[in-house]
Amino acid sequence: MVQRVIAQSEAAFLKARQLMPGGVSSPVRAFKAVGGNPLFIREGEGCTLIDLDGNQYIDYIGGYGPLIAGHANERVVAALSKAIGRGTTYGCCCEAEVELASVIVGALPAVQMVRFVNSGTEAVMSAVRLARAATGRDLIVKCLGGYHGHSDGLLAAAGSGALTLGIPSSPGVPASAAANTVLAAYNDLEGTKELFEKYGDRIAAFLVEPVAGNMGVVPPATGYLRLLRQLCDQYGALLIFDEVMTGFRVAWGGAQERFHVRPDLTCLGKVIGGGLPVGAYGGSKALMEQIAPSGPVYQAGTLSGNPLAMAGGVATLEILREPGAYETLEEAGRLLEEGLAHAAAEADVAVTIHRVGSMLSVFFTAAAGSQVQNLEQAQGCDTEAFAIFFNSMLQQGVCLAPSMFEAWFISLAHSPDIIERTVDAAERAMAQLSRRNPQ
Ligand code: PLP
Repeated sequence: MVQRVIAQSEAAFLKARQLMPGGVSSPVRAFKAVGGNPLFIREGEGCTLIDLDGNQYIDYIGGYGPLIAGHANERVVAALSKAIGRGTTYGCCCEAEVELASVIVGALPAVQMVRFVNSGTEAVMSAVRLARAATGRDLIVKCLGGYHGHSDGLLAAAGSGALTLGIPSSPGVPASAAANTVLAAYNDLEGTKELFEKYGDRIAAFLVEPVAGNMGVVPPATGYLRLLRQLCDQYGALLIFDEVMTGFRVAWGGAQERFHVRPDLTCLGKVIGGGLPVGAYGGSKALMEQIAPSGPVYQAGTLSGNPLAMAGGVATLEILREPGAYETLEEAGRLLEEGLAHAAAEADVAVTIHRVGSMLSVFFTAAAGSQVQNLEQAQGCDTEAFAIFFNSMLQQGVCLAPSMFEAWFISLAHSPDIIERTVDAAERAMAQLSRRNPQ
């Protein structure tokens, strides 16, 4: 295998490190868990990333989720080009907000009204404030390994980069903020019942990623989401689905459609901005009208409902609304899952692969098919094996997120031919792993 030349990327990273903490704008981009330097990208096209040195990679980072239509999709680019010629922000309302809101409300069963913000972090932070105001209670339950952005109270036992870097509960979070967060194990039906028995009358909301995506992809156990709905109803708490990752990703109507459970509040981000900074939260009219200026719960944003972000979102959702889009994603996901499982089995490497639609994770487990249902089991997986696999894939021109705890994202640009090339690379990467662990 010819070694990649990455001289320009390395020079850029050296400079970046002098100017920005760790040389990155978000810690998930660092390569601490896998070794080496972060990629510096010049350009994205379809399912391909091109770095500063001209190396090309089949991309499964997908911008960490938004790029379900691929990089620089021509319809998204055309919509953005048209929008940018009309200015970048107005500080006034624009039609594109109403257009995107109308698509979201039409798609998500539990959303009658929506408020746009600028990130997933803001969406969840604001939904939590609304839940507290609506119930007059303070406690929020979140799952161990769930990631809901970096707001103070939600950085308790958080997933994603916090988990990868081993700092799931950050210094700088006041004890008073964390004191209102109660932790539950994801997929633990009995434990969750007990938790409600203990704290039920103080819980404002149970906040959950309906498909966990930040400790690797972990689907909900049978009956888990329904149980959460039932417990919230029984104890007068709100159920918040953080669909920042799953919204418009696992189905047109998100996880709430796929698993037939309706939350009270839904948080969105990623796909609904087509790669531009965006977030949103929504729910019933009765709840959402408690938000200012209709109601007293304050939440605002200089750039919220930004015309470019709205145009990127509308164009992306138009592509997804076309007949066959989710079937295409499902089929690409199935091909990849089967190919990866076959590659691992051939090399006798133990993995557990989880996939929900176009989100996928490969956990390097002690035995093939071992259960990975929660954070503890995810953390028990072999991160060193992942690092070897990751680096072999990268060297072969396949770019994964640099952590076993981040999802692989498939886009409409990942054709069967691209999946086949990925699986070929995975066969070689698995063989390399197998040589490390002779049976
Ligand atoms: N919620 C979930 C489920 C996420 O995956 C993320 C980000 O990865 C967030 C919230 C935070 O979104 P953002 O990074 O846009 O603030």
